[in-house]
Amino acid sequence: MAVATLALGGNLGDRHAMLDRAVDALGRLPARIIAQSGRHETPALLPAGAPDDWNIAYLNAVVQVETHLSPGTLLARIKGIEAALGRRPGPRWSPRVIDIDILAMDDRVVTTDRLTVPHPEIANRGFVLIPWAEIDPDWRHPLTGRSVAQMLEALRADA
Ligand code: ATP
Ligand code: CA
Ligand code: CA
Repeated sequence: MAVATLALGGNLGDRHAMLDRAVDALGRLPARIIAQSGRHETPALLPAGAPDDWNIAYLNAVVQVETHLSPGTLLARIKGIEAALGRRPGPRWSPRVIDIDILAMDDRVVTTDRLTVPHPEIANRGFVLIPWAEIDPDWRHPLTGRSVAQMLEALRADA
């Protein structure tokens, strides 16, 4: 068994309902939901030159599940949930009903073409670190040794 920490977010449709449906589906993976952060409204992360209509605020949350699925299988199942909830293929960071990323799985390190765990952007994203710190501030990055609380503090000091 491993504890997987997942980032959930969406900026299209009924954002609360989409997060509810995603959490329900995650709980049936098979996986057991063990913690959920609050939900935070966050401005969209946009690439330079993004169209104005991409600028729709997200609702973000972090959820922890206990699962025996491997990281690769978990990613495949997550993509299935995103598709079932109506996510359509689109460019990176384009508006979506739901995005589910694997932030971490215990202290595992995975680097393949399809999957990087821990997620490479965690230290740079307040919309991930703020909800994560609510439920598991002491998780430590296996490569940098920094805790969630320390990464959040560093990001705030940087801002
Ligand atoms: P970002 O990764 O910057 O948050 P995104 O979530 O918008 O961007 P997507 O289009 O949802 O990007 O995913 C692109 C690909 O990222 C996925 O098809 C998946 O194979 C890959 N990927 C690599 N590492 C992870 C991870 N830890 N969690 C989820 N997807 C990952
Ligand atoms: Ca993402
Ligand atoms: Ca994603």
